[in-house]
Amino acid sequence: MYPISSNNFVNNPYTSNSYSQQHYWQGGYGQPAYGYFEQPSSEQSDSTGKTVAMAGLLQVIALGLNKASQWFSNKLAAGKEFTAASNVHRVADEMVRKNNLDVHVGYINDANKYAYAQRYNLGGQLEEVARGQNAFFADKLKLAVAPEHKPSLILHELGHAINAKSAFTKVLQNTRRYAPFAPTALLLANGIFSNKNDGKKSFIERNAGILGFAAFLPTIVEEGLASFRGIKAAKKVLNNPAGLNILKKNYLLALSTYILAGIGLGVASKQAVLEDSIRT
Ligand SMILES: [Zn+2]
Repeated sequence: MYPISSNNFVNNPYTSNSYSQQHYWQGGYGQPAYGYFEQPSSEQSDSTGKTVAMAGLLQVIALGLNKASQWFSNKLAAGKEFTAASNVHRVADEMVRKNNLDVHVGYINDANKYAYAQRYNLGGQLEEVARGQNAFFADKLKLAVAPEHKPSLILHELGHAINAKSAFTKVLQNTRRYAPFAPTALLLANGIFSNKNDGKKSFIERNAGILGFAAFLPTIVEEGLASFRGIKAAKKVLNNPAGLNILKKNYLLALSTYILAGIGLGVASKQAVLEDSIRT
């Protein structure tokens, strides 16, 4: 279980562009990044009482988000393949060819995971790919991997590979590294810009939730675009396959985990600013 933390994003470039957000913040929502909520030590004013109630409410929301994200992840893990593996391979090859992707496509199983791990210096990261619980694209390694028995995830990863080739979507892709710092950045900005003595809430205090979510929005957009590219390629190469809706549904479940993560970051940002306002 990883708490919400930038470490999961920042120190681990190879899990970037994973198909589901759950892999970053496994069980993370229950634990706000800023530790448990501290009760104010001095006598509480009315507004502090409200703030404490608000903090409790946010904690409940964070837990609910965690549960919901887990639910989507489980649904996704149980999701069916939309077509035969050979068809998926065909779509993937076509995506690589048509977009001139300099990316090796790997379908990971228990037999080849060690060779891949060694070749790309990936440690144990392919274990969960082999188990069918993850897929990822690593720009630096020029590698996209999906589980051999769940190859359809590769089309989304190749969507990321296409996004990495154009300047604008590459910027969207890179913002995910910084998004987890939103709560800290908002705290710092609030400290610099707010006038604590005037008794009014600052812009950042009032809008911390939406600002935190906004920091994650580029990631959500880029994720959606990666899926869109995969779906579009499948539709074209396989000539409107009967199971396309299954692929759409699976990708929508994956995107849902990212949307929840964005809301989670908004909640964490709000929590951070609230906690800070009680302390000071
Ligand atoms: Zn993705």
